[in-house]
Amino acid sequence: MRRRDYLKSTAALAGAAFSPVGEKFLSAQEVSARRGLPPLKITKIRTIQTRPNAGWTIVKVETSEPGLYGIGSAGDFFRPGTIPPAVEVLAQGLLGRDPDEIEDIWQSSYMSSLWRNNATMNLALSGVDMALWDLKGKRASMPVYQLLGGRCRVAVPVYDHAHESTSFDGVVEGVRASTERGFTHIRIQLGGYGGGGFIDPGKGERPVGGPKGRVFDEDLYIETIPKLFEYVRSKVGFEPKLLHDAQEHFTPLKAIQLAKLLEPSRLFFLEDVLNLEQIPWYRALRQATVTPQAAHEKLTSPAEYMPLISERLVDFIRFRVSKVGGITPARKIAAMAELYGVRTAFQEGGDNDPVNLAAAMHLDSSIVNFGIQEENHFTDQEREAFPGAPLVQRGFLYPSTQPGLGVEINEVLAAKMLTSTPGRPGMYYPPDRKIDGTFVRP
Ligand code: MG
Repeated sequence: MRRRDYLKSTAALAGAAFSPVGEKFLSAQEVSARRGLPPLKITKIRTIQTRPNAGWTIVKVETSEPGLYGIGSAGDFFRPGTIPPAVEVLAQGLLGRDPDEIEDIWQSSYMSSLWRNNATMNLALSGVDMALWDLKGKRASMPVYQLLGGRCRVAVPVYDHAHESTSFDGVVEGVRASTERGFTHIRIQLGGYGGGGFIDPGKGERPVGGPKGRVFDEDLYIETIPKLFEYVRSKVGFEPKLLHDAQEHFTPLKAIQLAKLLEPSRLFFLEDVLNLEQIPWYRALRQATVTPQAAHEKLTSPAEYMPLISERLVDFIRFRVSKVGGITPARKIAAMAELYGVRTAFQEGGDNDPVNLAAAMHLDSSIVNFGIQEENHFTDQEREAFPGAPLVQRGFLYPSTQPGLGVEINEVLAAKMLTSTPGRPGMYYPPDRKIDGTFVRP
């Protein structure tokens, strides 16, 4: 084709390729034709809520090709009612767009309300973003980890939780049980977050009208938890890699004291020992102790992670993939961390759905600076509703070789798991209090 004819044809195509979120350089037809694939458009974006209290929200992105769709995770256990309207807003700008343009869709959606770093919109965006990666993988007949650069490891080690017992011996039993089930990394807590730092109901000198239930005291925690670790190490040795989540319960100097006192127990990492408003204290913490640090799962913007990574203030960067806006931003944070010698530790746990774990698993498989992945497990009913849901086998996840994310949703079975009214607005995260009634940051 002569240059003049080429310019003429390009101009004609560009005229038909005006998207709701900005003019594109090439039409969908032209871009797709270059790969020998048929042109494709997003035709429908909708949310599916499932599980008791609508704890899981899945986004389904459908296309002009019959039967070709992708799914993504947008769940928020504490604010489920806010997600479907947020997805509807994004859908306004995305219907008719080429689903192959993941990066541009992410950027234009992220900026679509002008203000950004919005945890709810990030989840809606994650639902769309993961669905687009799922779609692209299905279209290319490749698992998502192949699109991300291919596998760096044969399997993904995950850490287990020994967190139910409130006795030292019970925790030791929990560690032994996890080891027997094949886990090499185990997070230990003394009966949940803050456990070891609670004054029992009715105990302690309490003000009139103050809280009557258990109350949190950071000095008690600092007295108890290093002793717990010492005890566990004396019983199981140093082979299990032990982790602990401080869940932000401390004032800065107390956080440093705790990290120092835990040094003899050689943790794999200590998680979120400072609350996110006190992140600059990580500089002092770093100078004071060699206990490895993981942070910070309450952050939601790639930009917020930059000081922690670029100043090498932490050893593990930690977030929920859906909460930062999906695979697209997560792989960038991970890549930035790689250059600074910081490893990853993606968050999971009970309120996450199988699609989020699948997305994390594909990232874990394809990044060289992978550190550890938090485990998640699903009931038989949940696995039937989500065929292909990742399955932990003796402490490892084995990435699916199916095209896309490798997990599907059976909408009929998913609907049966929804045992509350759709659109439940949400609930408060249960807070801890100090003895005088002061709120403790979770
Ligand atoms: Mg945590």
